[in-house]
Amino acid sequence: MATRKTSDAEPFLPEGRRTLPKLREAAAHCQGCDLYLHATQTVFGEGSTGARLVFVGEQPGDMEDRKGRPFVGPAGRVFDRALEAAGIARDTTYVTNAVKHFKFEERGKARLHKRPRAGEVKACRPWLSAELELIRPEIVVLLGATAAQAIFGPSFRITHSRGRPLESTLAKVVIATAHPSSILRAPDEEARHAAFEELVEDLRVVAKHLNEKAK
Ligand code: SF4
Repeated sequence: MATRKTSDAEPFLPEGRRTLPKLREAAAHCQGCDLYLHATQTVFGEGSTGARLVFVGEQPGDMEDRKGRPFVGPAGRVFDRALEAAGIARDTTYVTNAVKHFKFEERGKARLHKRPRAGEVKACRPWLSAELELIRPEIVVLLGATAAQAIFGPSFRITHSRGRPLESTLAKVVIATAHPSSILRAPDEEARHAAFEELVEDLRVVAKHLNEKAK
């Protein structure tokens, strides 16, 4: 299959006054890059326009692709446990991804996650920008390297900069941390436990900022 020369979601964004439902409806028909060709559906962000906290992950996984909702598969369950441990109610937040279609390679019957290319992340960026422009959150949390590099560039390293506020125009507070799926990829139970605790620790920093701003 030939790859197109330019990829951009911008022409698919709705005209006129934007709302989250209008964005979601328009994103369902996006052909801004080639990822729509093989995925089941667009997985748009979910949550309230009034959310003070927005989480940005990488892309939907296998389960998310089938259900059409972000963070509902195995990584989503880790995410939910980590949020609960940090004292953050998911239903008060907005959860989305840097890339709205599932990129994968088939291995037998399995569909294995494939990291999106920088050009695909860039093509999809207008959707994320439109979501953030509407919601105007106080805090944005970037989950994993793809989301963080989409904002801070390819040299950004989660290991060096996680869990502390970063300089950005995205929101008053921007924090990067590991993607919950990285915990599932840890080599053994001990490593999984340690990685989970690190994620919770970063989310506690987020909760602290959220609580401070609420005072
Ligand atoms: S990944 Fe993003 S830019 Fe590409 S087709 Fe899907 S919604 Fe459009």
